[in-house]
Amino acid sequence: MVGGLVATVALPAFAAGAAKGGEESMTLQQMAMDDAQTFVAASDSTSAELSRDSYSATTSEEIEKKKAAEAAAERAREAAKRASAASVGTNIALISPGTGEVRWPLTNFTKGRGLWDSGYHQGVDLLTSCGTPIYATAAGVVKVSQESYGGYGVAVSIDHVLGGQRVNSLYGHMTYGSRQVAVGQSVEAGQLIGLVGSTGSSTACHLHFEVHINGSVVDPWAWLQANAG
Ligand SMILES: [Zn+2]
Repeated sequence: MVGGLVATVALPAFAAGAAKGGEESMTLQQMAMDDAQTFVAASDSTSAELSRDSYSATTSEEIEKKKAAEAAAERAREAAKRASAASVGTNIALISPGTGEVRWPLTNFTKGRGLWDSGYHQGVDLLTSCGTPIYATAAGVVKVSQESYGGYGVAVSIDHVLGGQRVNSLYGHMTYGSRQVAVGQSVEAGQLIGLVGSTGSSTACHLHFEVHINGSVVDPWAWLQANAG
């Protein structure tokens, strides 16, 4: 009896239209997923809309709901602000070209030292100018994102699962302040993660790129040639 009564109470459907705001608010929603809930309202236009709506609320229940919506929108904006990455030039593509599950981390480079070349070298050096965008080699979760990661300098590493194997990719010597991703963040294949630099144990602009599969170092050059597209 009581359950039946409760079930017939309809909640106001005022959330319709909250998803307006287009692509930008979708991106912000992804960044602020914890807080945004159904109120995507991370764009200014949507939040203005919510504010306007709040004056037309009539019942106390509606007003409470709208206040909650505005609070959620505010939290979403704050979270998006915190999550927003260091700014890069607007001329830099945020996603690399290519469609493969595995992508080249750079689109334009010359191959330098390879695995174990000239002493202890766990990766491949991809030579290009400082400021060149670096892209995630595959979808995954950021494991390391640091301004100073030993000899790697500014570095990012990402955990992937590819073909049922645990793969880790590492990107070293990036430009100070250029990292676009934080630890624990999910990234897409080809997503911009930072810019080529010469930080750490490096004397020239290049990307030091490593691949570990199930915890063991593999030749990243051979791996890219076999998998990237
Ligand atoms: Zn190197």
